[in-house]
Amino acid sequence: MKVLGIETSCDETGVAVYDTDLGLRAHALYSQIALHAQYGGVVPELASRDHVRKLLPLVRQTLAESGMTVDEIDGVAYTAGPGLVGALLVGAGVARSLAWALDVPAVAVHHMEGHLLAPLIEDDPQGRPQPPFVALLVSGGHTQLVAVDAIGRYRLLGETLDDAAGEAFDKTAKLMGLPYPGGPQLAALAEQGRPGTYRFPRPMTNRPGLDFSFSGLKTQVLLAWRDSEQSDEARADIARGFEDAVVDTLAIKCERALDEAGCETLVVAGGVGANKRLRAKLADMAQRRGGRVCFPRPAFCTDNGAMIAFAGALRLLAGQHEDAAVRVTPRWDMATLPEVGGQV
Ligand code: ATP
Ligand code: MG
Ligand code: FE
Repeated sequence: MKVLGIETSCDETGVAVYDTDLGLRAHALYSQIALHAQYGGVVPELASRDHVRKLLPLVRQTLAESGMTVDEIDGVAYTAGPGLVGALLVGAGVARSLAWALDVPAVAVHHMEGHLLAPLIEDDPQGRPQPPFVALLVSGGHTQLVAVDAIGRYRLLGETLDDAAGEAFDKTAKLMGLPYPGGPQLAALAEQGRPGTYRFPRPMTNRPGLDFSFSGLKTQVLLAWRDSEQSDEARADIARGFEDAVVDTLAIKCERALDEAGCETLVVAGGVGANKRLRAKLADMAQRRGGRVCFPRPAFCTDNGAMIAFAGALRLLAGQHEDAAVRVTPRWDMATLPEVGGQV
């Protein structure tokens, strides 16, 4: 089955074709970063309009790169939530209309399920982690630990009480004067920083539980930056101290979640999953425990169409699809999703 995937939940237009026999055939991404940079954050109405401009050309480009014509598509998958309502409606409208015109089924995909399944895109089917496993979802809007009992059956073990990890990276970068979006730049700067020069707390690790809180850490950084000589060196050292605090905190809670769920496979997804130090730390932890940790390639940690095509393909294969209405769900609890069933 050849599935066209469409992602438009926020500020990235992503399109991909996933073939359930041959794997990923093509994917393309258009990022609106430059459009929103002057405002220091995503402007929802501008995001919707840019998806309108870019989506169809990107669909044509992706099909051309896959060497396929549009009538070879067997199904269309689109992000229906969570996300910005106007942005989601662009993707849903195009996806639903295409499916109608081609007389193929369309399926609504939960954006966070897309992220969660992204590590499974490239593995050969034999090498894919099979449920049960624990997933750490660390993106710009979410920080969650999820027990995956089956594909489609998700139990929330813990989540952030305030900022998401990616949001904390972005806000911390901003308060030290880095341009938008600062998360990846802060991580790059941390590479040059000296470990231990600044030590920040590991929030909520000294008590039981799997919830997170990152907003206090941001304040600690603000104070450290204010009291420093505000040199490039201090900025890099503080970035390193901040990154180490976030990475340690995430690793401590992941280990706890594995203990609680009684399994040894961890799957990591979302933009912060691209962080090198997080990847290394979790790989060490898995090795020490004799377990396994799976990441997507860095480009599939952040938003992309491939994860939507893949997640949608699993649901379409299981016979799930939508009626002809164009519907989106800007707030959507992953625990309410139907189970997909079977092996992936
Ligand atoms: P959500 O998926 O929750 O709706 P989102 O789609 O905006 O949010 P993603 O695209 O998954 O989030 O990830 C973007 C986030 O990842 C940003 O906050 C960014 O700062 C962060 N990020 C990207 N690369 C890195 C990195 N190398 N280190 C730390 N953070 C990173
Ligand atoms: Mg984004
Ligand atoms: Fe995302």
